[in-house]
Amino acid sequence: MKRVYNFSAGPSVLPQTVLEKAASEMLDYNGSGQSVMEMSHRSKAYKPIIEGTEALVRELLTVPANYKVLFLQGGASLQFAMVPLNLKKKGKAAFVDTGVWSDKAIKEAKKWLQVDVIASSKATQYDRIPEVATVTGDYDYVHITLNNTIVGTAWGALPDTGDIPLVADASSNILSEPLDISKFGIIYAGAQKNLAPAGVTLVIVREDLIREDLPADVPTMLRYDTHAKEGSMYNTPPCWSVYVMKLVLEWVKALGGAEGMGKLNREKAAILYDYLDSGDFFRATAQKGSRSLMNIPFLTKIGDPEKAEAINKKFVAEAEAAGLVNLAGHRLVGGMRASIYNAMPKEGVQALVDFMKKFAAANAEA
Ligand code: PMP
Repeated sequence: MKRVYNFSAGPSVLPQTVLEKAASEMLDYNGSGQSVMEMSHRSKAYKPIIEGTEALVRELLTVPANYKVLFLQGGASLQFAMVPLNLKKKGKAAFVDTGVWSDKAIKEAKKWLQVDVIASSKATQYDRIPEVATVTGDYDYVHITLNNTIVGTAWGALPDTGDIPLVADASSNILSEPLDISKFGIIYAGAQKNLAPAGVTLVIVREDLIREDLPADVPTMLRYDTHAKEGSMYNTPPCWSVYVMKLVLEWVKALGGAEGMGKLNREKAAILYDYLDSGDFFRATAQKGSRSLMNIPFLTKIGDPEKAEAINKKFVAEAEAAGLVNLAGHRLVGGMRASIYNAMPKEGVQALVDFMKKFAAANAEA
């Protein structure tokens, strides 16, 4: 069996030990004689799985007692709609535009709310997080994208929003380092990068934002109170993805939890950024001070766009042949991107840098 180093932005690499455990339990979970895929979500065997997953989320992310942890479907993209539908009161929200995913969230929220884009880094191709120290105003919430998967930027210090709930899309950096959940009203993450296979979305929501007095036309499935009241069991939850999330969280816990992950992720990212900042051939596109630990886009320093495009293609193809896969940048920005989520081992990042050095030497212009 040959496993590759998978730098996909999502769905993404999972820890090998998690895959092995899931494989070993595939036909007979815990003596039940069934696969988790086949079980009723209301069965005795399944209940401890979803409850255990929630307990681990609470423990590893230090979720305060006044927050609900929900396992929903529809991806992070459905949260772009659920957030405005559930938080709309005065009818106005503030958004910070840091790239494609922020923009999608903005477009969706505009269906229900007046949206003020209070800061944007669009003018510099989203290569940084704009300065937003404080936010005031008559807003139902302030929305940020904590980690920008496509352009590889991430928030450091959070804006001070006072009493206005801060809502964050943490799809591509959830549990990559410690995070103070109490600073947020809602934090949501599609799980298919750092937590689980696709199919489940983790939503952590402060209880006072879960309203029962929503307009009658808000669909039942799109109300946080529906899911909060039923422990994410209003309807069939994504049972299998939740189960694998539990295995991933057990793996994270064994490696020192969010702190352990943060230390490891900083080491991994430094290996790649240090090389990108020191070499003559490649360069990182995100500005220092705004750089993501999870998604690292990069370009060559070749000036001629046609030559650069050809060399990018060559790089991606030769890397793939060397067992380093999914290194093409997002289709909207081109170039290359290495996504180095929690489950990417340090050896994988080192193998990438070793390959880049060889490629640079072989392709340096005379
Ligand atoms: N937000 C961010 C930051 C993302 O990276 C993605 C997916 N790449 C999404 C939202 C959309 O997530 P989903 O596919 O789960 O709807």
